[in-house]
Amino acid sequence: MSKAKDLSPETLNAQALHHVDGHTGAVSPAIHPSSTFVRDKNYQLINARHSYGRAENPGYDVAEKVLAELEGGADALLFSSGTAAAMAVVQSLRPGDQIVAPRIMYWGLRNWFAKYCDTWGVGLALFDAADPDALKRTVQQGKTKLVWIETPCNPSWDVIDIAAAADIAHEAGARLAVDSTVATPVLTQPIKLGADIVVHSATKYLNGHCDVVAGAVVTAREDEFWQSIGELRIDNGAILGSLEAFLLQRGMRTLFLRIRKASESALRLARYFEGHASVEAVIYPGLSSHPGHEFAKRQMDDGFGGMMCIQVKGGADEALRVVKRCNVFTRATSFGGVESLIEHRYSIEGEGSPVPKDWMRLSIGIESVEDLIADLEQALK
Ligand code: PLP
Repeated sequence: MSKAKDLSPETLNAQALHHVDGHTGAVSPAIHPSSTFVRDKNYQLINARHSYGRAENPGYDVAEKVLAELEGGADALLFSSGTAAAMAVVQSLRPGDQIVAPRIMYWGLRNWFAKYCDTWGVGLALFDAADPDALKRTVQQGKTKLVWIETPCNPSWDVIDIAAAADIAHEAGARLAVDSTVATPVLTQPIKLGADIVVHSATKYLNGHCDVVAGAVVTAREDEFWQSIGELRIDNGAILGSLEAFLLQRGMRTLFLRIRKASESALRLARYFEGHASVEAVIYPGLSSHPGHEFAKRQMDDGFGGMMCIQVKGGADEALRVVKRCNVFTRATSFGGVESLIEHRYSIEGEGSPVPKDWMRLSIGIESVEDLIADLEQALK
């Protein structure tokens, strides 16, 4: 672990900070299913951190330490899902505080924010992420306590200026939390740009294999807000299973390879279908036609990620037909796995969704991009 300063993030991540089990020499960490931990004859715990399985699990350490290192944070905590991770951040506010969040963001969290805020007396103000001045107009000095952003924003893939959002939040006396699920620390490190908190649905790219539901929060500093987030994990029982924690740290080892391959393939596929006879538009921050492209080039390192939407000519029915005709893309919601997924997003979000009905959402995986292009080409015919 002492070598962290000299090594590149890829090396630190692939080796999980050069993890070796101190008791056995095992290169791979152990799975700890134990729900409780013994006390010795003096009634002392063997390790003061571990007393009961709803508070902590020794199997979290590797993923938490690696994630904190990759994000440049002071500490990280795993949660049972991305939603549970977000809940712990939002529940650390007090009645009367206000959250400011983008109008278009992951719909499940946006809906949950609205419900929670209404029930618990927390204010919620939404802003248009495509308008660079909207955040400044929306925050309220002394009242806004949390600015929540997601970049790129799911599913418009608007890229929000994290450094500017941090300045606006801090001037108003608020913290900035960034949902960095889509970008991952490979493409963007929000804490280095001024964010206080980073949240991940680790279900997506961090794990990368569509076989774990998990979440994570990373903090820039260990303060009372961070302490509250940690306590809420225990109080909500929002802990990750020991097998899931093992799978997550294993999946994370290949994060850089997966993200780079997905970004490279997504850019090729986006360029191929932009201007295609059956396509109205490709919405991808890596294309110069995307309104956030110039800024994305400055904020994102090493690519623009694996997520995009394609607007199909012929309206909603045709978009749904194209999705149904795909053979290589897997028809399923979620994203960030090694296999490419396609979905008709409006059908998933339902009535009231701001997503246009003629959009398909694509998560590009690590397959041969030629196979993906050929599949979409035949589906669009
Ligand atoms: N954040 C983003 C950007 C998401 O897309 C999702 C889920 O799709 C979540 C958070 C919630 O994560 P989870 O499904 O792990 O609760």
